[in-house]
Amino acid sequence: MASLRDIRATFLDYFASHDHEVVQSAPLVPQDDPTLLFVNAGMVPFKNVFTGKEKRAIPRATSSQKCVRAGGKHNDLDNVGYTARHHTFFEMLGNFSFGDYFKERAISHAWELVTKEFALPKDKLLVTVFSEDDEARALWRKIAGLPDEKIIGISTSDNFWSMGDTGPCGPCSEIFFDHGEDIPGGPPGSPDEDGDRFIEIWNLVFMQFEQIDADTRIDLPKPSIDTGMGLERIAAILQGKHNNYDVDLFANLIHAGEDVLGVKAQGDALASHRVIADHLRSTCFMMADGVSPSNEGRGYVLRRIMRRAMRHAHLLGATEPVMWKLVPALKAEMGDAYPELGRAQALLEDTLKVEEERFQRTLGRGLSLLEEATEGLGEGGVLPGETAFKLYDTYGFPLDLTQDALRAKGMTVDEAGFDKAMDKQRADARASKFSSGDAAPEAVWFGVRDTAGATQFLGYDGTEGEGRL
Ligand code: ATP
Ligand code: MG
Ligand code: MG
Ligand code: MG
Repeated sequence: MASLRDIRATFLDYFASHDHEVVQSAPLVPQDDPTLLFVNAGMVPFKNVFTGKEKRAIPRATSSQKCVRAGGKHNDLDNVGYTARHHTFFEMLGNFSFGDYFKERAISHAWELVTKEFALPKDKLLVTVFSEDDEARALWRKIAGLPDEKIIGISTSDNFWSMGDTGPCGPCSEIFFDHGEDIPGGPPGSPDEDGDRFIEIWNLVFMQFEQIDADTRIDLPKPSIDTGMGLERIAAILQGKHNNYDVDLFANLIHAGEDVLGVKAQGDALASHRVIADHLRSTCFMMADGVSPSNEGRGYVLRRIMRRAMRHAHLLGATEPVMWKLVPALKAEMGDAYPELGRAQALLEDTLKVEEERFQRTLGRGLSLLEEATEGLGEGGVLPGETAFKLYDTYGFPLDLTQDALRAKGMTVDEAGFDKAMDKQRADARASKFSSGDAAPEAVWFGVRDTAGATQFLGYDGTEGEGRL
């Protein structure tokens, strides 16, 4: 059985043998890019090369890049545990041409790698092209010999990539694998394309234009190539699995979770186990790259993901911290390829333990409140925004955690009401700061107690901002 390590090596070696420089994964925190919380694609570390700001000695590169998609433009947090193909952290394999080769070679490399090196059966593969990209369509016909019905034209932004409102852009072409008719889902472009039968494995981006302003798009003198293939998705196929979470790496992490929690990953517990394994990986990689939990920015994303995993552990019966106990299993799976996991091990364990201890102090009570608040609501019910805000403010429940908890019951949150409650609290805080600027600490304390209620105010026995997120 091909391991993740073998698959990664096959990809990188293939492109190295075609004169690509093998480049190490950049850290998850983007270097000099304040617009992006986490690296979310293999091309991110090469952005300045694509725009021409930076030159590289070798015009071709290949990498396996650590990626996080848990917020912003690409947010896969809500997919985890529910689809067969999404993680919050994953590795993106890629090959890049910086003004060197273009469409024809990109397609022939991709086809050769997939059908020869990885030996995927041609009859299970289909591709998409941007509907206006006749050149790509003709190349797929010529190189892969695919019949017309397996070269699907797509006119949406799924098949047109751009770096931003201005800058390089161009059509994409994606390779899909058909996991078989037993699995629900339609081919790309069909109404049920979000099912998991046809899984996208590789996106080839043809950067051939530059958007100058809203109305002007010019041809790039030297077009470039950027591609991204999900390592876990190709591994699932090569290991004869449909679901990414059945790949050996995840099977082993989930097995470790079963041991620690004493609950088998089956029936209702399966999704929780998958969420825990996924979130363990993303949170550990984020921390190993220097992010620590906090109430804003990257640290907030990290804490949100941790707390979601911790709620799932609670659902499976955890009464004491468990996430930290899974760090050795993660290190065993990925520590060779990513030595930062070993270097940070003590930090990862300590941080997870402290965070879970802290959240467990309010988690049970928050869930009881949620239980009470939803008692009268049936399926399709909407939780009042004020309740969701109280869960956030007093019990440290990020909004998306509450939404995740309600999803199983078919309920949602009144988000506008939540925002309103948040705005009101901010306005109140500003007003009280203004009026009680010189107040003695006791007066502030009593003021807070009065508004929050003596029994619910949980913020004073620990670090500042304890229950809040
Ligand atoms: P999908 O449509 O399945 O959400 P995508 O179109 O958002 O995927 P791209 O942005 O094209 O994905 O990224 C390139 C490749 O990275 C995808 O073809 C897929 O193999 C992989 N990939 C993307 N998102 C994830 C994820 N959340 N988990 C695992 N692999 C992913
Ligand atoms: Mg996506
Ligand atoms: Mg897609
Ligand atoms: Mg895609």
